[in-house]
Amino acid sequence: METKDIERLVRPNILAMAPYSTARDECEGNPEIFLDANESPYDNGFNRYPDPHQRKLKSKVAAVKGIGEEHIFIGNGSDEAIDLAYRIFCRPGTDNAISISPTYGMYGVAAATNDVEFREVPLKEDFSIDEKGLLAAADENSRLLFICCPNNPTGNSFPREQLLRIISAFKGIVIIDEAYIDFSSGSSLISELDSHPNLIILQTVSKAWGMAGLRVGLAFASPYIIRLFSNVKYPYNINGLTQEIVAKLIETARPRTEETVSERERTAKAMAGYRGILEVYPSDANFILVKCTDPKGLYKSLIENRIIVRDRSGVKGCEGCLRITIGTPEDNDRLLYTIGIWSSALSPDRDTARDGSAETAAASRRATVFRATSETGITVMIDLDGKGPCFISTGIGFFDHALEQIVHHGGISLLVEAKGDLHVDEHHTVEDVAIVLGKAVSEALGSKIGIGRYGFVLPMDESEASVLIDLGGRTDFSWDAEFSREKIGDMPTEMFRHFFKSFAESSCCNLHISARGENEHHKIEGIFKAFARALKMAIARDRFPYSLPSSKGVL
Ligand SMILES: *Cc1c(COP(=O)(O)O)cnc(C)c1O
Repeated sequence: METKDIERLVRPNILAMAPYSTARDECEGNPEIFLDANESPYDNGFNRYPDPHQRKLKSKVAAVKGIGEEHIFIGNGSDEAIDLAYRIFCRPGTDNAISISPTYGMYGVAAATNDVEFREVPLKEDFSIDEKGLLAAADENSRLLFICCPNNPTGNSFPREQLLRIISAFKGIVIIDEAYIDFSSGSSLISELDSHPNLIILQTVSKAWGMAGLRVGLAFASPYIIRLFSNVKYPYNINGLTQEIVAKLIETARPRTEETVSERERTAKAMAGYRGILEVYPSDANFILVKCTDPKGLYKSLIENRIIVRDRSGVKGCEGCLRITIGTPEDNDRLLYTIGIWSSALSPDRDTARDGSAETAAASRRATVFRATSETGITVMIDLDGKGPCFISTGIGFFDHALEQIVHHGGISLLVEAKGDLHVDEHHTVEDVAIVLGKAVSEALGSKIGIGRYGFVLPMDESEASVLIDLGGRTDFSWDAEFSREKIGDMPTEMFRHFFKSFAESSCCNLHISARGENEHHKIEGIFKAFARALKMAIARDRFPYSLPSSKGVL
C-alpha cells in the first residue's frame, strides 16, 4: 500500500475539512503578550491553554521509542485513538470493522458509538488467530482491523510473521494494540511502520508505565495518518498538567515489568496446582486468564476477602474464566491464599474424616481481620480447618519463620501480612500481629461449641518446651523461659514473651509457657511448635459436640 491508497480509505468529509487552528499556530513571531485566546491574564500556573501539539511530551516519547515525532499521536487514553480511527476511516452506517474475539471491549464499543458494523472472528480453541477466517470476514467496506497483541483477556501474543501477513493482505487499516507489549517477550511492530503505511500501533502509559490515572495513550503511524488524527482530535485533548507529568516521568522512570513478570510466573504456577482451577493460560501480559470449575463462586470468595478480579466467564470464548491482574507479591500471596481456601473447601475429602455432626463439621471456621494504626497495617486470614496455605510476611525474617511453625504444626491455614514501622523497631509489628492473630483465632472459633478447649504439650526435643492452653474465655498468662542472647536472627528475644502475652489477651485464652534448653534457637522453635500443637488440640472439634466443655461440675 502507498499513501494514495490510504487516502482512498479516509471518509470524504474528513479529507475535505479544515482543521481548527489556534492563533498561536498561525503566529510566526515570538509573542510575549498573549491577548489571543480570551484566557485570564492572572498567572496561577494553569491560566494558559496547554500546547495543542504536545511538542515537549512528543519529543520525550520520540526519544524513548526511537521514532520521529511525526509518527506520534498522543491521545486522552488509547480510547481516544480508537475512537478517532473510526471517525476518520469509517462512514457510519456503511463501513465495517473487523476484530478477533474475545478481545478488548473498546473496539466494539467505539464501533457502536460510531454506527459502524463490528465483525468478530473467534480465536481458535488455543487462542490463536483464525487467519483465513479473519481475512475472509472483510469486504470492500472493511476499513479497520483490530488485533490486540498480547491479547486482552487471553494474555497470549500472536506470531509476528502472522501479523505482518495480515497487515499486508488486509485492504484497510490494521490497528495493532500493544498495550501490554512491555510485559511480553516479543517486540513491538514499530520498526515495521515504514514498510506498512496502513499500520497503526497503539501503546499506552496506563500499564507498565504506571500512569493510568493521567490518561495518555499513544498511537504510532505514518506521518500522513498522524496528520489526520491531529486534524480530528480536540485541540487541547491532553491537559497541561498531564503533559508535564508524563514528560517528566517518561524521561526519569522506566516501565516496571521485571517483578510483575516473575510474579506472573510464580502466581500462575501456584494457582495451577489448586483443586478447582482447570487451566491457567500462558500469559505475555500483566494478567492471567484462569479457567475454573466455579468462576462465580471463586469470584464471590475473593470479593469476601476484599479482592476484586475481572469476571470474564460470561464472555464468549472465555467460559469459566476469571482475568486476574498481577499485583505486588503481597497482593498475589493474598490472592493465592484465598484461592487456596476456596479450593480446599471444594475438596471431597475435607471434613468427611470427622464423623461428628455433619453440620458442625461443615461450618467453616475462618476469619479475616484487618487492623491499621498509625504504626502498622496488619492483615490476618485464618482457616482453623485449612490444609496449609501459608503466607507470612512481616518484614522480620525470624518472626516469619516462627509463625510458619504455627501453620505447619497447628494444621491450619494462615496468612499474615504486616506492614509496620520496622525502621523504628520490631515492637509494634510483633505486638500488633499478636493482637490481630488472637482476634482472628477467636473470631474463627465463634461460639466455640464443640471444641476440645484444652491443649497441652510437652515435647522432648533437644530442648524442652511446654505449653498449656485453655480457650475457655478467661485470660491468664505465665511465661517461664529465659534467653541470654539479645536477638535470635533479626528478632529481639524479649519480643517472644510479649507476642504470646498479647495473643493471650487478645484471644482471651489462658496460656502457660515454659521452656528450658541450651540452644536458644531450638528453645524458641520448641515454644512455637508446642504452642501450635497445643492450639491444634484445643481447637479440635469433639466427636460429640454439644457445648464448650466446662470446668464446673464435671471437672
Ligand atoms: C488497558 C488497555 C489499553 C489502555 O487504555 P488507556 O485508555 O490507554 O488507558 C488499551 N488497550 C488494551 C487492550 C488495554 O487492555
